[in-house]
Amino acid sequence: MSNHEIPKNHPRYVSLTVRDAIISGMHQKIVAEAGLIAHGRGEAFDYILGENTPKFALKQEEFAVLYLLSASKPIISVNGNVAALCPKEIVDLSNILNAPLEINLFYRSKEREQAIKKKLIDAGAGLILGLEPEYQETIAEISHLRRIVDSRGIAISDCVFVPLEDGDRTQALRRMNKSVVTVDLNPISRTSLTANVSITNNIIRAVPEMIKYAEEFVQLPKNQLKERLKHYSNEKLLQDALKFMSERLNTLATSDKLVI
Ligand code: ATP
Ligand code: MG
Repeated sequence: MSNHEIPKNHPRYVSLTVRDAIISGMHQKIVAEAGLIAHGRGEAFDYILGENTPKFALKQEEFAVLYLLSASKPIISVNGNVAALCPKEIVDLSNILNAPLEINLFYRSKEREQAIKKKLIDAGAGLILGLEPEYQETIAEISHLRRIVDSRGIAISDCVFVPLEDGDRTQALRRMNKSVVTVDLNPISRTSLTANVSITNNIIRAVPEMIKYAEEFVQLPKNQLKERLKHYSNEKLLQDALKFMSERLNTLATSDKLVI
């Protein structure tokens, strides 16, 4: 199904439109085949969430923004799914947080790198790290192609925002003593459990909401950011996410009529 065929009053209009963006991202070589599978995994969790942002996720987003703003050198790692789903929003967030964008792919190919670069530039991006061979460094903690990082970017950053990331890489970044912030609809993925701040929400809702928090918090001095951070616990918020999901399912399972 393509976008113009989806009627606006369809109960799952947003989900279908987003699916369309992923599929056309694949035709444009932005999204890898495995990116489609990852998206489907995300959709399943979003169905359980109710395809809305619950309160606990707003707290996770606040936590994430405070965390990124209090870092010395924050950076945003972009993959194909992120570029296909929210290119403009990720560029805006990068500008507000003063965190550069670095393209970093699991399935690295020149064609995919250039397609993602174009998508980000069309969305208003300036400098994009991760592609120029003279700045490429390898990190020993990862054994595959994604061990290449930019010497001006992830290599020297203290805090990496890696939405929709694979668990191996998140663990490798943590072993390198970097703080990790993620968006991942699965609250028990290795990424969610390993990151310092995990947002259990769909990236299409999470990033616009993070932009609002960033506009508010960017005014705060670092000591106030750090003070506020003391009120959050990633583990507790992930448990809130699990409670929300299980309670929603339990309510459905015990209601007289099975309607959502
Ligand atoms: P892990 O590697 O962390 O153990 P995994 O192998 O299941 O998890 P990956 O494909 O490595 O998953 O990472 C993609 C993650 O992104 C998945 O947990 C998936 O649920 C999540 N995801 C996919 N699409 C979205 C989306 N639109 N918003 C938020 N999360 C998403
Ligand atoms: Mg994985």
